[in-house]
Amino acid sequence: MEKKKIDWANLGFDYQKTDYRFVANYKDGAWDEGAVITDDTITISECACVLQYAQTIFEGLKAYTTEDGHIVTFRPDLNASRMADSARRLEMPVFPEERFLEAVEKTVAANAAYVPPYGSGATLYIRPFMFGSNAVIGVKPADEYQFRIFTTPVGPYFKGGVKPLTIRISDFDRAAPCGTGNIKAGLNYAMSLYAIVDAHHQGFDENMYLDPKTRTKVEETGGANFLFVTKDNKVVTPKSDSILPSITRRSLVHVAKEYLGLKVEEREVLLDEVKDFAECGLCGTAAVISPVGKIVDHGKEICLPSGMNAMGPVTQKLYDTLTGIQMGRLPAPEGWIHVIQ
Ligand SMILES: *Cc1c(COP(=O)(O)O)cnc(C)c1O
Repeated sequence: MEKKKIDWANLGFDYQKTDYRFVANYKDGAWDEGAVITDDTITISECACVLQYAQTIFEGLKAYTTEDGHIVTFRPDLNASRMADSARRLEMPVFPEERFLEAVEKTVAANAAYVPPYGSGATLYIRPFMFGSNAVIGVKPADEYQFRIFTTPVGPYFKGGVKPLTIRISDFDRAAPCGTGNIKAGLNYAMSLYAIVDAHHQGFDENMYLDPKTRTKVEETGGANFLFVTKDNKVVTPKSDSILPSITRRSLVHVAKEYLGLKVEEREVLLDEVKDFAECGLCGTAAVISPVGKIVDHGKEICLPSGMNAMGPVTQKLYDTLTGIQMGRLPAPEGWIHVIQ
């Protein structure tokens, strides 16, 4: 297979159409067989439930080339089960988990020419999503749905080196108590757009959201979970029912305990204790970990001792170990690396 002529090292995080996508439709209570197709457009009713009432969910994972030349995905079974959880919460039919895995496999295999080579730092981003497709005007779930997966090549996250982020405590909430913060739904992002644009206008990279009930505990950012390191090298990560369960964060917790022998605490994290941490990072599929250098609480600056030039030492070790596992340079726990045939 010949790779596409793409300047992998200089790709950004923008949508670029690839040749194939997977599509399956749900109608009369059942999913059809689905197929890999070339048409990248969708035609639906102007009154489709997704357009009127935001009945849509998604996932995000990536395919990449390992050191020994295999195209792989990382823990796709967790994306399948998380998407099933999201579907149940929005009254959507579950696309069966084994079929999800098969569809990811087929879509990536069909677009193998777009999977960046080992060492380029680029990856093929995979976006499974599902939406209510038939007309619904009285508020209720749709009866018909489309499940779809497209892929798009994306560039190295830390182009031109790692730059620790400056984030602010947000006065907006991303999730309601007992709401939908724990599922991957477009609606959680729609309501965060104002807050992120405002943060950027004020010169911040991201928002730190607090728990919506008491506004005293750290939750997450718009699209990544927090991971802190204490001055005595303990890894601490917030626990809350309104946080999206990041697969990267769960993997880093395992790496911290089992590969690095660190103590890990998954617990409520008070905003008041953030000033005492040594390191802070944001974890998600895109960057694995982006270091945070400064947290601003209404003009009051909390400067992490790891500074504004590099990752902190524990964050760096976590990053190196997880990316080493992903790229096949370090042995992976059973089931983490899924080879695309
Ligand atoms: C997707 C997402 C994350 C990161 O999850 P990963 O599985 O690690 O990519 C974190 N927070 C939110 C709100 C998300 O949507």
